[in-house]
Amino acid sequence: MNTVNAKEVKEHARRLGADLVGIAPMSRFEGAPKQMDARYIFPGAKSMIVLGFRIARGTLRGIEEGTLFSNYPSMGYAALNQVYGPMVLWNLTRLLEDEGYETIPMLNANGGEAINPVTGNFRKGWSRPAADGKPYPDVLVHFRLAAYLAGLGEIGWSKVFLTPEFGPRQRFAILLTDAELEPDPIFEGKICDRCKACVTHCHGNAISMDESVKVTVAGHELEWNKLDPLACEKGIQGGANRELSPFEGEYPRMYGYGRAIEGACGCIRACMVHLEERRTIKNLFKNKFRSSPQWEIDRSKPYELTPEVVEFYEKSGKIEDFEAYITYNKRDNYGTDKTDGKVNPLVD
Ligand code: SF4
Ligand code: SF4
Repeated sequence: MNTVNAKEVKEHARRLGADLVGIAPMSRFEGAPKQMDARYIFPGAKSMIVLGFRIARGTLRGIEEGTLFSNYPSMGYAALNQVYGPMVLWNLTRLLEDEGYETIPMLNANGGEAINPVTGNFRKGWSRPAADGKPYPDVLVHFRLAAYLAGLGEIGWSKVFLTPEFGPRQRFAILLTDAELEPDPIFEGKICDRCKACVTHCHGNAISMDESVKVTVAGHELEWNKLDPLACEKGIQGGANRELSPFEGEYPRMYGYGRAIEGACGCIRACMVHLEERRTIKNLFKNKFRSSPQWEIDRSKPYELTPEVVEFYEKSGKIEDFEAYITYNKRDNYGTDKTDGKVNPLVD
């Protein structure tokens, strides 16, 4: 007899900071490929709790305007996956363990999987099964499919997960527990209307207009575009031709995610704009998100300083090479210039 129920777990998760909570019985993994079947991670688990955390619309604003690129990769991406989500995971795990239920808190982070999380390919030569019959470590739990199994929404044409609350704006975290909790039904609604705005706005040319992939999950057939994952990996860094990167070199990483400087121009921003216009999601805003067409950078023009910068900085001698601060950090901030040319292991 359980000493916690689904209602209490959900209320607690929301109090802790989750925006969405869905519960799937582990039996919904039936038919999943062995390498992606969470039951091999925790054979005694009875339930998978999937938490959703909204990506604040404001984290996309700076990229929409072309003036602040660090906010989305940090607050809209990494901080949700690596800071905020894990805090809620830990605290919900404490609740369940205090009641005597073993619980695995799983953050959305890529690492040692036997399946490449970007391409979905098996990594030959990477690991060995720990015993006969077991999958190769690490088993990769597909977070979007987990969210589907927990009834939180659907996977859109773009392959981005869409919920009735936030459309494409959320990230997920998972708990596997041996508490048997009342499951949520699979989402039977329709959010994606195949408008294909995600395709036309994808600067990575990664989303197919017509070709699709179909998979059967928990007895339901799901379909999304035949995504080119490597084109997406490149596109996410500023478009296929860096047309969405105003930076002359590589952008520094924020918690390792700094490369997401296109702010999901097509698959998140265009979809969000479309769903808000259709008013088919719950989290709507007083003001429209998009007030001007998407900007592009003309790289055929030579790099030059704008008149405002010339007037304000150049004329007063306050111009430096972009490498100056990096050099300062390496040489002076760590004191390496005072060590007779010895290499500082912290920075070299
Ligand atoms: S932009 Fe349109 S086609 Fe693409 S996922 Fe969103 S609703 Fe579906
Ligand atoms: S993240 Fe960017 S490059 Fe990748 S599919 Fe979405 S819009 Fe295209």
